[in-house]
Amino acid sequence: MGCVNYKGIVIKEVNTGEADKIVTVLTAEEGKISVAAKNARRTKNSLSSGTQLLCFSDYMLFKGKELYNMSCCEVIEPNYEIRNDIYKLTYSSHILDLIYDNVQEGEPSESILRLLLNTLYVIAKTERPLELVTRVFELRLMALLGYEPQVSGCINCNKTDDENMYFDLDNSGIVCGECVNPKGRVIPLLPGTVKALKYIMRINPQKLFSFSLSEQSIKELGIISRKYIKEHLGKEYNKLDYLKQLI
Ligand SMILES: [Zn+2]
Repeated sequence: MGCVNYKGIVIKEVNTGEADKIVTVLTAEEGKISVAAKNARRTKNSLSSGTQLLCFSDYMLFKGKELYNMSCCEVIEPNYEIRNDIYKLTYSSHILDLIYDNVQEGEPSESILRLLLNTLYVIAKTERPLELVTRVFELRLMALLGYEPQVSGCINCNKTDDENMYFDLDNSGIVCGECVNPKGRVIPLLPGTVKALKYIMRINPQKLFSFSLSEQSIKELGIISRKYIKEHLGKEYNKLDYLKQLI
């Protein structure tokens, strides 16, 4: 009774009691769920590996009064490579913060889980620029959360040029040089940045990270993404600033 079998990724872990943990797991079926894992901090316990941050596993869970209880788990992808690299780990923690804050409990989240899995795969297994990977994740997540910017053409006249375009924060989309309101909150864009925005919003999930971009366009995407997130989610995510101090 009350037993479910979910696959999911650990997006937060909190130690409780002497050797227990409560983990937050992102699942397709119920979005974010809280799961108590008894004795998970004992090294030889069968739950210890599947309750680590970033771990993707197959879980057998029993529904308790307030939380799920983990009865067993089978690790599918531990994402070790991320935990052993301070840069990969910091970018991934930023990504997990965004998910934790903005995915609801009890709300099916299959697309967001798939996006997170793809993003962590690219971070763990490849050397793609972390800054670019993270911006692509952020912008695609915003679309999945219901805040997709209009980037297929100018929001006013539909012109589909890549040259002489701006990102218009007041109207959540791109606007051409003729329609732009110079007094509005606008960011001028390089043609490469416009192309990238169109690609990120349109491409199927498997190909999401299959493009490269100039340093300058990556920077522009970063400025847009940060402002866009603050505008719609009402919060600034500053974890990555710490890395800039290191560099
Ligand atoms: Zn226009």
